[in-house]
Amino acid sequence: MERKPFKERNRIMLVRFSPRQGIKLTHPLGVMPPFTLKYVQALLEKEGSFRVELADCSLYPLTPEGLVRKAASFAPDCLVMQADVLTYRPAREFAELARARGMESFILTGPGVDLFDAAELFPLCISGEGEVKIAEVIKECARARDFSSKRLRSRAQECAGKEFLVEDPDSLPFPSYSRREIEGYSGIFPLRFNGRAKYGFVLSGRGCPHDCGFCSGAIRVSCGSRVRFRSPGNVVDEMVSLVGAGANIISFADDDFSCLEKHATGICEEILRRKLSVRWTAQARLDELSREALRLMKRSGCILLRLGVESGCERVLKGLSKCADPVEWKRLAGQVSGWLANEGIACDAMFMIGSPGETGPEIGETMRLCSSMKPDFIQVHYYAPYADSRMSAGVAASCCTPHHYAVPERSLSAVDIPGLRRLRAFFYLRLCLDPFFILRHLSRYGFFYLRNPRVLLRLSGMLLSF
Ligand code: SF4
Repeated sequence: MERKPFKERNRIMLVRFSPRQGIKLTHPLGVMPPFTLKYVQALLEKEGSFRVELADCSLYPLTPEGLVRKAASFAPDCLVMQADVLTYRPAREFAELARARGMESFILTGPGVDLFDAAELFPLCISGEGEVKIAEVIKECARARDFSSKRLRSRAQECAGKEFLVEDPDSLPFPSYSRREIEGYSGIFPLRFNGRAKYGFVLSGRGCPHDCGFCSGAIRVSCGSRVRFRSPGNVVDEMVSLVGAGANIISFADDDFSCLEKHATGICEEILRRKLSVRWTAQARLDELSREALRLMKRSGCILLRLGVESGCERVLKGLSKCADPVEWKRLAGQVSGWLANEGIACDAMFMIGSPGETGPEIGETMRLCSSMKPDFIQVHYYAPYADSRMSAGVAASCCTPHHYAVPERSLSAVDIPGLRRLRAFFYLRLCLDPFFILRHLSRYGFFYLRNPRVLLRLSGMLLSF
């Protein structure tokens, strides 16, 4: 395809905002690519007639004023902004400033934003997994040589009230990543290998079939409860291309990588069939992992699984709608962590405290479950009533929570805020100050820390803050 020279190309600026802006977080955050925007970039760059600039404030923080200056110097024909309940406020702030500087062709995309509130400022809101629709609208504007807000607004009716989903993820081109992005997008924990970690992120499927009451677009990567998978061949092709771009760790960013065993094992078999030597990590669920699948995962390069355990209290698990059978859930926590230890796959166990009505002794049950699992890492966050979660109905407006890793303004549990902070600190310290944990941790990750001192600094900074 003949490519137009830069100055003749349509200029599209993509912006992702940081959930950290103006908030004090109690935990370091990994940074994943903004998948919707990366796919918009790939879809447009494939055309050859667009110059696309991605400003990712999660990776390269900018104030709204700095971002407006960047936008003004790029002079985009259209600005596409990705936001969720955590980042809608900075998105609005930026759009207002940009509008004052004469920019007004905005498309807003993402899950869970208040579309009624957004309608006046953003001519077009595309909810959900908007990449295909956004690229279609932008290409249509380019053909008409008209990126006016009026033209964008004329498409608003057809998008109103819809949640767009990517129905055929195999048909999308692979996002491309610069060396800087491969260095920048990363996880937060050490890994069982001795090199300098460079991450490549892959979305192997979309959707999650579960219905946890606290779940929100702010903690998910895809939308919808209907799952849509890429074929193993397509997934492994992208892994190969990421390795070619410099990645040495592949992180599956799927909301629930294990939701269909055939899909997960199909990818493992394809990796083995191609003799691809690669290490990978993923997020999985306790009730979806079999011993055989874990063995295959290990053989194909899996070195870490992240598991949302949430609680060790049956009443709380039930209240969160985490699983059908809380007693079985707790049994599985012990069983699966044992399998992971036997296979040599690291376990990152994620817990939540401060759930509605939760008492101190119930948090104690969670700590005991955690101790029995002997995880490699833990993440303990606060219950956050995000406005788009099923459990938050009627609560969010009166109990603003800026982030699940920020100290809540008001407790919905039976423990007050100072008590929750103390229990959370104790949760971490009782694991991390255990001499057996320290010895095991240093023997597994000591060399990794030497090659990746930034990881050690961020994690020890968190522990020292208690
Ligand atoms: S918390 Fe995880 S498993 Fe539960 S609905 Fe959300 S994405 Fe799915």
